[in-house]
Amino acid sequence: MFKNTIIRLFTNKIIRICQRDVWGSSMLGASTLMLAVLLSATVACAQTAAEDGVDVNIKPGDDFFAYANGGWLKNTQIPAGKQRWTVGNEITERTRAQVNKLLEDAAAEPKDSTARKVADFREAYANEAAIEAKGIAPIKPLLDRIDRVRDKAALTRLLGSSMRADVDPTNVGVYNSSQLLGLAVQASIHGEKTYVAFLLQGGLGLPDREHYLSAEPRMQALRTQYQQYIGRMLTLAGVDRAASVSKRAEAVMALETAIAQSHATREVSAEDHNADNLWTRADFARQAPGMDWSAFFAAAQLGKSQTFVAWQPGAVKGAAALVSSQPLQAWKDYLRFHVVHARADVLPKNFAEQALAMRAAAGGQSQPAPRAQRALDATQSFMSEALGRMYVERHFPAEHKARVQAITASIIAAFGQRLETVTWMSPNSRMVAQAKLKALYFGIGYPNKWQDYSDLVVDPADAAGNLERVTNRNYRRALAHLGQPIDQTEWALAPQQPGAILMFNQNAYNFAAALLQVPRFDPGASDAVNYGAIGAIVGHELSHTVDTLGAEYEANGNMRRWWTAEDVSQYQAAIEALVNQYSGYQPFADLAVNGKVTLSENLADLGGLAVAFDVYRSTLGSRINDKDYVRQQDRQFFISFARSWRSKMSDEGLRKYIATDNHAPESYRIATVRNIDAWYDAFDVLPGHRLYLEPKARVRIW
Ligand SMILES: [Zn+2]
Repeated sequence: MFKNTIIRLFTNKIIRICQRDVWGSSMLGASTLMLAVLLSATVACAQTAAEDGVDVNIKPGDDFFAYANGGWLKNTQIPAGKQRWTVGNEITERTRAQVNKLLEDAAAEPKDSTARKVADFREAYANEAAIEAKGIAPIKPLLDRIDRVRDKAALTRLLGSSMRADVDPTNVGVYNSSQLLGLAVQASIHGEKTYVAFLLQGGLGLPDREHYLSAEPRMQALRTQYQQYIGRMLTLAGVDRAASVSKRAEAVMALETAIAQSHATREVSAEDHNADNLWTRADFARQAPGMDWSAFFAAAQLGKSQTFVAWQPGAVKGAAALVSSQPLQAWKDYLRFHVVHARADVLPKNFAEQALAMRAAAGGQSQPAPRAQRALDATQSFMSEALGRMYVERHFPAEHKARVQAITASIIAAFGQRLETVTWMSPNSRMVAQAKLKALYFGIGYPNKWQDYSDLVVDPADAAGNLERVTNRNYRRALAHLGQPIDQTEWALAPQQPGAILMFNQNAYNFAAALLQVPRFDPGASDAVNYGAIGAIVGHELSHTVDTLGAEYEANGNMRRWWTAEDVSQYQAAIEALVNQYSGYQPFADLAVNGKVTLSENLADLGGLAVAFDVYRSTLGSRINDKDYVRQQDRQFFISFARSWRSKMSDEGLRKYIATDNHAPESYRIATVRNIDAWYDAFDVLPGHRLYLEPKARVRIW
């Protein structure tokens, strides 16, 4: 029911950004011991606040991550039931509290203001008494409409008019609609100038096809449970006589299983080349017989559209064939069931509890989230940009945006200069890379223009109605985009989502405001601290635009591999030392980091840190000649870098992370400092220290 808002690296669509937190004044850093070290140090400058909390018992040259994050590691507990805790988790929690407070305050805003609509949306969703009082009245018109369906022509029209814009194949990677077919209106992958209509598979009540087809005992048990659940929901929806209900539930399950059989797997769905399945209206009639596609598209308000991307062609064919082959009764029960299943959380308790238990079982959770949490999640999901605007107004003022923009612009310029000196990439490829950097839209905090919500009616006592109105509005917005020129500055992420997204087909980055919090970005801190943190992160992301990930897309968003065979072979030679460096990290006797799998991320870390260091140094101006000052600032820069990735993992968590993630564990990511000469000077790192590398063994790729 809810669009996935988790920011994770899926294929190469979402780039997960890690984070660090600010040091509390209660940290143990400024101990007597540290004062003693300070006094005996050869540097004249005092250790600054940015160095509070280092572990003076650890030599920076032996374990820089543990040195820089000493106080935090001592004082941080991994919460019960988790294997890992990062600043990302802390920032997510902090953002949740910020959003909750915003919504509380917005309840006092004038009626009809957008802020009030957002608050009212949550209020309605949380108001169980009002939901209970309405009973099934909100879905009655939909159920009546299904009752009136007498033939396949009417069924086709109903299926068309039920279509939703609830999928996102090219940006976030949502490949399954809540409806039989879902619509996305997006930039495609061949540098098209206008938005294209994508049709995606859908219509399953369980998470994906595997749930219907897998022979695993857990899945089989889940299917039995699901079929019973279908029966109970049909009964609640008013389908008569329990005796016939179990048969009818069986028929719905059979129909869903047939739909699932036509679905593409998640891996196949994640393939961007699916955008090449461009179908004309004639193709639908020819390749997907069984349904009157003209009637379907007309009902979906797509009557004028002549071409569509059939992202999963098998599912389009399957849907049409099943409309023809399956009994009308099964389709009508299927639709009745889905009307209640999709809206169960805003229907009376007996619906909601059934659906919650089913979803929890399918998702492998022991406990469904409480109502307040669900209300907040629904508000985040359905009112995301309106809420984002409120978030930005309070937590990300224009001067913060301006400072991050300035940092970003200087990093982009410096990265471009470094790119010119890269010897392993051919001159032609370097030109493509430079063109990409030049044309890149790097969105900071929030979009340039906001949606207008004045047309949206939100009733604080009508959760189901609000959901319907927002969903319909989203669909109208998608339709309005069709054929319009592509706006490179359009965002795919809400400002209050603490993440970032790289859209290759749009040559654009979005860095959400919630990502840019203290201490990842600290408006009160020095350039050294900010370039060490957000500066290095920006540099990391730039690396992805031209590395093995970005090599698939040109500056205009056209999908074409622009690295030549020679680039690839020279790159392989250039990165060998970095692969070996990371493969040498072995936290357990039987387990090492995989230098090959983590390469793209390690390369981005290294390039990002190196370019951020160059730019930070240039901010020192005439003080560059003050050796003590420079040393103190350099230390701040590197410590800030280490803190921007701090995390704590259990041994079990570390094993799992190494086995499943394409990033190296944070402690090893931070060790990339050993490739930067200035780090050795700043922390007196000498031969014999564990991280020490001979100058010729230090890697430079960008
Ligand atoms: Zn990355």
